[in-house]
Amino acid sequence: MWAVYFFPKAGIYDMALAELRNVRKKYQKAGTSFYALDDISFEINEGECLGLVGESGSGKSTAAGVLARLKPVGRGIQMVFQNPQDSFDPRDTLLKGVMQGAASYKIWDRETLEKKALEMIDYVGLKREYSNVRLANLSGGECQRAAIARALICSPKLIICDEATSALDVLMQAQIIDLLKKLKKEKGTSMLFITHDIPLTAALCDRIAVIHRGKIAETGRTEKILSSPENIVTKNLLSSVLTIQKNTR
Ligand code: ADP
Ligand code: MG
Repeated sequence: MWAVYFFPKAGIYDMALAELRNVRKKYQKAGTSFYALDDISFEINEGECLGLVGESGSGKSTAAGVLARLKPVGRGIQMVFQNPQDSFDPRDTLLKGVMQGAASYKIWDRETLEKKALEMIDYVGLKREYSNVRLANLSGGECQRAAIARALICSPKLIICDEATSALDVLMQAQIIDLLKKLKKEKGTSMLFITHDIPLTAALCDRIAVIHRGKIAETGRTEKILSSPENIVTKNLLSSVLTIQKNTR
């Protein structure tokens, strides 16, 4: 049994905008089947950023896929992935790549679409002079900004960032997090921020849901999860970070 809800017109803060309730997803692997999602539930509230944190293979992208495929919401949900280069045609110009986010919806004429794309290019901190530069010639960080611009062009209610900063160096990571913070503050966009790197959630996420082997291990306010985790899985995620920091000293 599973159900998914999405309330695109939810206007009250802290009201669930998107919700997974008792979701199961079964995959076949090496001749046997298993639940990549085993009865998971979480909600993302209006204007909120929820961090979905777990080790590799825990089911994060599967959960993102379930959310993103909610048919009735159409352009209300947009995704930003780990490797932006893979989701663009590298021969396209920056302007064309950003316009792609809306072209398929046929809601604007060409002139309006171009104007909106240029506004988004400004918003994500890229230079308009780059509009006709091919995406292949942009850096990883610039490409990720372009992917965010493409996601934003239709004013989505919810953005799902699936390891969106994982391929970037620390400086770029911080810049993209700052951009997402600005977006949340200025546009009130809700976010599902997916990462295996728990400290990354500190600056951005209001709440964290920890996922382990397809189940939600623990959910709570970010400060609470980071300072006094209750579940062993959360403790392990935090202590592995401390170990890495100790070793690099
Ligand atoms: P994460 O994003 O947390 O790394 P995923 O959601 O990608 O985890 O994967 C969860 C589990 O499901 C993993 O064991 C993965 O190997 C498996 N899996 C993902 N996609 C498929 C698929 N299409 N077919 C079979 N198994 C899959
Ligand atoms: Mg993944």
